[in-house]
Order: sequence, then C-alpha cells, then structure tokens
Amino acid sequence: MKIALYPGSFDPITLGHLDIVKRASSVFEHLVIGVLNNHAKTPLFSVEERVKILEEVMKDIPNVSIGSFEGLTVNYASEVGATVIVRGLRAITDFEFELQLSQTNRKLNPEIDTMFFTTSEEFAYLSSTSVKEIAHFGGPFEQFVPDSVIPYIKEKYKKI
Ligand code: ADP
Repeated sequence: MKIALYPGSFDPITLGHLDIVKRASSVFEHLVIGVLNNHAKTPLFSVEERVKILEEVMKDIPNVSIGSFEGLTVNYASEVGATVIVRGLRAITDFEFELQLSQTNRKLNPEIDTMFFTTSEEFAYLSSTSVKEIAHFGGPFEQFVPDSVIPYIKEKYKKI
C-alpha cells in the first residue's frame, strides 16, 4: 500500500491545507497527517488540540489518519510506513526552503521521497499565521478555515 505523510504545524488548519489533503488523499492509498510538535515555536493550539481538530475536519475522508511527532520527519515517515512526504507549495518564496528540506530528507533516508502539490490559486495567499493575525484583531477569519475549526479559534481569542 502506498502511504504518504503530510507533515506540518497546522496551527490552525486552513482551507489551503485541506485542499492539499483532499488532493493528496486521492493520489495515495493512505495519507497520514503528522502534526509536528515543534518546541522552538509557541503554538496557539497544543498538539493534542490540533490532532483533535484535524480528526474532526477529516472525519469524512476514510483514507486519512492523524498523528503527531517530534524530531525528524523522515523517522516519523518510516514509523508510519510512508515512502512519500507530501508538501504544499504556495509561492516561489516557499520553494527555496522546501527544496532544501526535501534534499536534506532524501540524504537522511534515500527511500523516502518528497512530492509537492502546488496550491490551488484561491488559497495561494493563505497561511496559518495570517489566519491567527486576522482572528487576533477581530477580523473575518472564518472564510479561511474549515467550518468546524471556527469555534475553536473563537474560543482561543476570547481567552487571550
Ligand atoms: P510548516 O510550519 O511546516 O510550514 P504548515 O502547517 O504551515 O507547516 O504547512 C504545512 C505544509 O502545507 C507546507 O508544505 C506548506 O507549504 C503547506 N501549505 C500551507 N498553507 C498552504 C496553502 N494555502 N496552499 C498550499 N499549501 C499550503
């Protein structure tokens, strides 16, 4: 079975991420979304919250499962049996970073390759960071995230 891993922060998941998940899950037999526990960043949502939110958003896509990991992405890919790492490319600015990352990963484990999905143009500008910024200032962030994520974001900014 061809399994792919889509790693990322997903803090929070946006419609851009969801678009990549839908497209990648139609190409691979199984897609694991791996939530990265990055100690260098202070996230809005904990890893546990992000996993729960992703499970809710993906509940109707049967060949997608959610997990979380720390450390090297290639190690987590091996752990879940994935031979492909999926990443999304928005603009040329993503390219340099993603190229370096994919080449490093291939050096670390030549059996795991990276495949890129270019963003659907309506989501090209979209990032988790901009969603958080808009929500923080009380702007209309709702149009950028899956419906089931809206209450979680509202709840967070109510407390801050
Ligand atoms: P990271 O912190 O690793 O960049 P993100 O959660 O921001 O993780 O993104 C995970 C992946 O999804 C990355 O490959 C990123 O380029 C891609 N991605 C993020 N937003 C979009 C979007 N709007 N369209 C397409 N791909 C996207």
